[in-house]
Amino acid sequence: MKTLKLTKGAETRIQHGSLWGFSNEIEDLRRYTPGEIVAVENFHGNFLGTGYVNPHSLIALRIVSSARVELNRDFFVSKLRECAALRDAVYGKPYYRLVHSEGDLLPGLVIDRYGDVFSVQVNTYGMDILTDAVTAAMKELFGDPVIILKNDSASRKLEGLEQYVKCLTEGYDGLITFEENGVKLQTNILTGQKTGYYFDQRENRKFIAPISKGKTVYDVFSYIGGWGLNALRHGAKSVTFVDASEPALRHALDNVKLNGFAESTAEAIEADAVEYLKHMAQEGIRPDILVVDPPAYIKSKKTIKEGEKGYINLNKWAFKCLDSGSFLFTFSCSHHMERSAFAAAVAKAARAAGKQYRILHEMQQGLDHPVNPHMAETFYLKGLFIQII
Ligand code: SAH
Repeated sequence: MKTLKLTKGAETRIQHGSLWGFSNEIEDLRRYTPGEIVAVENFHGNFLGTGYVNPHSLIALRIVSSARVELNRDFFVSKLRECAALRDAVYGKPYYRLVHSEGDLLPGLVIDRYGDVFSVQVNTYGMDILTDAVTAAMKELFGDPVIILKNDSASRKLEGLEQYVKCLTEGYDGLITFEENGVKLQTNILTGQKTGYYFDQRENRKFIAPISKGKTVYDVFSYIGGWGLNALRHGAKSVTFVDASEPALRHALDNVKLNGFAESTAEAIEADAVEYLKHMAQEGIRPDILVVDPPAYIKSKKTIKEGEKGYINLNKWAFKCLDSGSFLFTFSCSHHMERSAFAAAVAKAARAAGKQYRILHEMQQGLDHPVNPHMAETFYLKGLFIQII
């Protein structure tokens, strides 16, 4: 294992617990090949941890352990066992995010678990080289798992990796059935978005339960219906799913049937969310509960200002659809947006729409998406549960 030396002063952040070293913080970066595993030292030669490098990436170093370890099957067996023990204790059922990258001290690795089916996303060169060790560990721990490599993320491109989706079990059709908050869900991992489902909203979705009875709910950016289905389970009068993805909407309606909810209570609208909210505002469609859960509008630091404007505009139209007493769940999953900036965007949106509101609860990602306290970007999901006054 080569030794990697950090430039003078660069080690403070890493010593505090950050897992990233930037390309200008590494001595003689060109010495390393993409994905190479290294022993990390500070400028004075004191050992800081084991990590891997990608000289072609702005985030050139990622630390995997503060110890001197071999990153092999045994290492991953021990890490994945720890990750599974936490989730099993918290949720009791094997449907969760098993590994959440930096939040679980496994940078570049995301694994969602749907019973015996595992959706794996490898986002960095170093972790890509370690994929066989990861899958060997999964076989050791989980018997005969179906493993899908959902390696189609944009971050792979930045790392210089190919993008592909591959199932390691032959003949598997990709269909997964699982459960969340007592709601049954089905989707197809091979054709679905990201790693299959957005488990990060599980705890937040529970807040819709006590206010749903007899209410009209609009689940905007619904994907396969997580929010709306939680509302139907708790007696919502009707749910309208709005999304730009036709396959996602088809799954949402199928999931209504899967749960035995009356088909007449649900409808799906394929549309651009902002356009549809405008239409609702103009046509006087006034839901009792509105959920607005968009994809990340801010993809990089360069687009922070533009993305913030997007959130203000989206929420302005959301507020315009809401009368006094009704509820709004509104979110941002942009890593580059600070919590205070999101709250400010929502406040601006309400002012622009001429609405007053009170915040009932501030929301974040679920327990299976742990936050690294030294890396603000890992605390990515921000949400407000609001009532219009
Ligand atoms: N609310 C969902 C997760 C939403 S993810 C849940 O709880 O599981 C974001 C969703 O926005 C995706 O389903 C994507 O298809 C959809 N989407 C992206 N751009 C959109 C747009 N302009 N208008 C409507 N939907 C959009």
